[in-house]
Amino acid sequence: MARVVVVGAGIVGLAVAARLADDGHEVTVLEKEPAVARHQTGRNSGVIHSGLYYAPGSLKARMATAGAASMKAYAQRRGVPVRTCGKLVVASDDTQLPGLHRLAERALANDVEAALLTPEQAREHEPHIASVGALWVTQTGVVDYPGVCAALAEDVVAHGGGLLTDTQVVSAAERTDGLHVQVRTGGREHELTADLLVACAGLQADRVARACGIEPAARIVPFRGEYATVREPAASLVRGLVYPVPDPRFPFLGVHLTRGVDGHVHAGPNAVLALAREGYTWGQISPRDVLDTFSWPGLWRMGVHHLGSGASEVARSASRQLFARSVARFLPELRTEDLVPAPAGVRAQALARDGKLVDDFLVQRSGRQVHVLNAPSPAATAALEIAAHVVDELPQP
Ligand SMILES: Cc1cc2nc3c(=O)[nH]c(=O)nc-3n(C[C@H](O)[C@H](O)[C@H](O)COP(=O)(O)OP(=O)(O)OC[C@H]3O[C@@H](n4cnc5c(N)ncnc54)[C@H](O)[C@@H]3O)c2cc1C
Repeated sequence: MARVVVVGAGIVGLAVAARLADDGHEVTVLEKEPAVARHQTGRNSGVIHSGLYYAPGSLKARMATAGAASMKAYAQRRGVPVRTCGKLVVASDDTQLPGLHRLAERALANDVEAALLTPEQAREHEPHIASVGALWVTQTGVVDYPGVCAALAEDVVAHGGGLLTDTQVVSAAERTDGLHVQVRTGGREHELTADLLVACAGLQADRVARACGIEPAARIVPFRGEYATVREPAASLVRGLVYPVPDPRFPFLGVHLTRGVDGHVHAGPNAVLALAREGYTWGQISPRDVLDTFSWPGLWRMGVHHLGSGASEVARSASRQLFARSVARFLPELRTEDLVPAPAGVRAQALARDGKLVDDFLVQRSGRQVHVLNAPSPAATAALEIAAHVVDELPQP
């Protein structure tokens, strides 16, 4: 049995903590916010992805498929709202058809159940959606991720573990007698000792690694995703999940429509470079975060290739009309006034020094520590599988 400190009470940290506690370890979760799931996990689309998009053989592909099954089973067992509703990926014009067919091939390679549909067949699933062709993915679902986090936190405590909120990890140092973890609670600093540390700090992952004496392999760059609620009666035009064919040059899936477990329909998210890692509006600017983002050579190298798409994302963020127009491509009856601004999320995307977006999940191990350094979508779907992987990576105390 080891004393393990887990940094971060998002879905990944809590899944790791619940697994370790279940294995009999003495677990303490440290979370800087007053409650669980305050950042990415509590601000996402609530979708259980099927594993459709990811490079065959990647951690994402393997863990999304397995994770979709384990997440649904866990939610059902713990009474958290979950539904398998399927999703429709739609091509809006002929230029998108090759991309749609590539997705169908990828579904096959990743063992994801999916079928190409004619526009008429697509309308049987979503009568108001316009397309020139579509892909129907049967196993995609929706879930209440904050509800999953509450259940995981209960599991940690039920197995004798602890969850300390309002507790920020400031640094950690490895000594011969174990790990000394410096934490700040209510303005006061104190020290905890542990045998092992697992960091799942999302938007702060690279900083937490550095504060623990580990040089991270990439820098976190924050991309805000803004949403709008689709109000009635337009919301009733959407039955489930409708996605465009994604732009393969971009790591995000494009503005989509989701009917969540609560029945509300959302449009979004877009993807704009955020000026604060935990900044959910344009008005929130953190000079430290801006400096970190813009001083990273990888950003400029990436920017050269994505200048055009970046500019159009900013324009779409500034204009509700442009935002509505991108959804109206596949939901022509949607009007700008049907959209009401909703809370945004910020994605933690790891970016390498050479400007390449780190595509796969990234877990870095050193000494008595394991750091999850890149856990973007579909990490919520895959959280229970990431947890199993992280626990396997842990050294013997
Ligand atoms: C807009 C958006 C839409 C998405 N849609 C989906 C989707 O539909 N399906 C899906 O599978 N995935 C989706 N994702 C991705 C998914 O939400 C994330 O991959 C997942 O939530 C990552 O979980 P996490 O625990 O790593 O990070 P987080 O949920 O961000 O948790 C990290 C935690 O660490 C804490 N922390 C940070 N630093 C410290 C410190 N020094 N001390 C203590 N605590 C600290 C933070 O406060 C935070 O609570 C989406 C993400 C976004 C932003």
